[in-house]
Amino acid sequence: MDMTRIRDRMVEQHLTRRGIGDRSVIRAMRTVPRERFVDPGYEEFAYEDAPLSIGDGQTISQPFIVALMLEKADLDAGDKVLEVGTGSGYASALISRIAKHVYSVERHERLALQARERFEALGYKNIDVRVGDGSKGWAKAAPFDAIIVSAGAPEVPLALKEQLDLGGRLIIPVGRGDAQRLKRITRVGAEAFEEDDLGGVLFVPLIGEDAWTAVHPMYTAAPSARAEAPPHQLIADAAEEFSSLDERRFAALFDRFAESRIVLLGESTHGTAEFYEARAAISRHLVEHHGFNLIAVEADWPDAAAIDRWTKGQASKGAAPFGRFPEWMWRNIEFSTFAGWMKEQNQRRAALRKDPIRFYGLDLYNMSGSIRSVLDYLESVSPETAAIARERYGCLSPWQSNPATYGRAVLTDAYRSCEDAVLKQCTELLTRSLDDVAPDGDDFLNAAQSARLLTAAERYYRVMYYGGSQAWNLRDTYMADTIERLLDFHGPTAKIIIWAHNSHIGDARYTEMGTARDELNLGQLCRQRFDGMTSLIGLGTHCGEVIAASDWDGEAEKKQVNSSLPQSCERLCHDSGKPRFLLDLNANEELHASLVEQRLQRFIGVIYRPETERLSHYMATSLSRQYDAFLWFDETRALSPLAPQEPGVGDQETFPFGL
Ligand code: SAM
Repeated sequence: MDMTRIRDRMVEQHLTRRGIGDRSVIRAMRTVPRERFVDPGYEEFAYEDAPLSIGDGQTISQPFIVALMLEKADLDAGDKVLEVGTGSGYASALISRIAKHVYSVERHERLALQARERFEALGYKNIDVRVGDGSKGWAKAAPFDAIIVSAGAPEVPLALKEQLDLGGRLIIPVGRGDAQRLKRITRVGAEAFEEDDLGGVLFVPLIGEDAWTAVHPMYTAAPSARAEAPPHQLIADAAEEFSSLDERRFAALFDRFAESRIVLLGESTHGTAEFYEARAAISRHLVEHHGFNLIAVEADWPDAAAIDRWTKGQASKGAAPFGRFPEWMWRNIEFSTFAGWMKEQNQRRAALRKDPIRFYGLDLYNMSGSIRSVLDYLESVSPETAAIARERYGCLSPWQSNPATYGRAVLTDAYRSCEDAVLKQCTELLTRSLDDVAPDGDDFLNAAQSARLLTAAERYYRVMYYGGSQAWNLRDTYMADTIERLLDFHGPTAKIIIWAHNSHIGDARYTEMGTARDELNLGQLCRQRFDGMTSLIGLGTHCGEVIAASDWDGEAEKKQVNSSLPQSCERLCHDSGKPRFLLDLNANEELHASLVEQRLQRFIGVIYRPETERLSHYMATSLSRQYDAFLWFDETRALSPLAPQEPGVGDQETFPFGL
């Protein structure tokens, strides 16, 4: 890879276009090789504008934020600068290309030593690194013209202010979780300081004597800022309990969402029986009592169209739906029971001359079908490249913490050279599946829309092929577009229920997806496009069993779900002592406020890797902003997958589930 070119492009795309104008900062960003500051295997991602893990629970900061901090520090060639939080050494390296001398303090010895080696290897001689608590500054080397703090403090440490020279600037993130603000403190007199607010940021915490305590480095709250009652107690007080999903009380809990036009129902795994059963019970209630008439799920369009036809009593066409990985997601007893209910409901509606309820797949571009054809093709030309693709797709559906698995999937030349052939296959597949659906006279997906889809498809498949956050964003934007078009098509009285993973439906702006990886999602887009008409409901669990694979395209396995981690949202729900409940996150201000704080949350997708759970499946989230309500099942059962359906005789009778 031509790193200089990629670096220049990053500077152009993420820095200059976003307003970084200081020439010395731009020059330094063009000069310092960020790929030398990331862990081996992650070089390919060095120029994405995102933080990356560097071990010990720490990160190399996002390039844009580093550039912003340096610009706001107004560095000069003669300056003496202190950086607190050396981490990978990247920011100190940049400063060393602008200022005269850099003093850098890091509390993790391994990181400090590694940074020192990197500076030596690159010939950066004007940097001193020390292991210690930087919240106390570096008194012997003071005063400083500028101090950059690369970790979030509860408040501005006094020692750092005192070590500023007259006219000196201190740039520091202050506050906790998503309430963190980047501040600039300028010393304007012996005891006089000016303060500017530079906007919201999200840094790992500054741990030290004049900072946060180290009980749990990432997520310890400031004692002074703690709510009166502990969060698990507030959850216990607000929890609206139920015992069975069949009871009237359970369904009635969702009457509060009757006025919404879009209700999004999540799931924190793709293989938990209770999540399917609960979404079925809620959907039945919303359809029967509150006028919802469309149901759309995280599945391929053509497969969902086959179910839709079947529920309307129309003849089946082609093979049974959901025959591809992850087939258990929709080929399972729980969903087949719900599909049976839709069919009965539509028969009843037909007798009353009412329009049927309609069932749709949000992945208009036939995602799992196209992934399958990519893998088949790559398998035949280069198994090694197919393995990379499999790893990348593992990160696509749904979100999995990068770069733990993603980082290993480094691009090869073979990968690039397969692109065109693969795109051709995907487009052919799409043409075929649109042909399958449209001639039925499907009212929504008419010929003009199919043609439009085909025109946009190439770009879609190209981005999908490489994976990463752009592909994620494209996919979720298409899902939101599909919902918008469905509502338009079915008219102003149409109301839709969505079933998709929590990673799609919980507003990304209040999770690491949005704050650290520039990812957006369906829930966020629905809130933005249908303001006041959208309800986001997350579903979660503490432990139990789940169906998931170990790798993309792998076997469906029954796996044990680890108990949720201490300091996670799930653990708070568990500690409430209530086994099943709905938590209205806007029930009261105190509850809402106490769950705004960033905490870990677990996301298990089609792949579950319990052995690397923290890295692969948890991210920081602000629960009460991410969802409107959270539905809790403390212990859960695995979904009941159905055997694959053999094509051939009997299909018509047993379509679509082989039952
Ligand atoms: N500037 C770094 C870079 O470019 O890679 C990123 C730093 S990372 C976001 C924050 C670093 O601050 C971590 O390496 C962490 O160990 C360190 N840190 C946290 N509290 C500290 C303290 N009191 N003193 C020194 N370092 C600290």
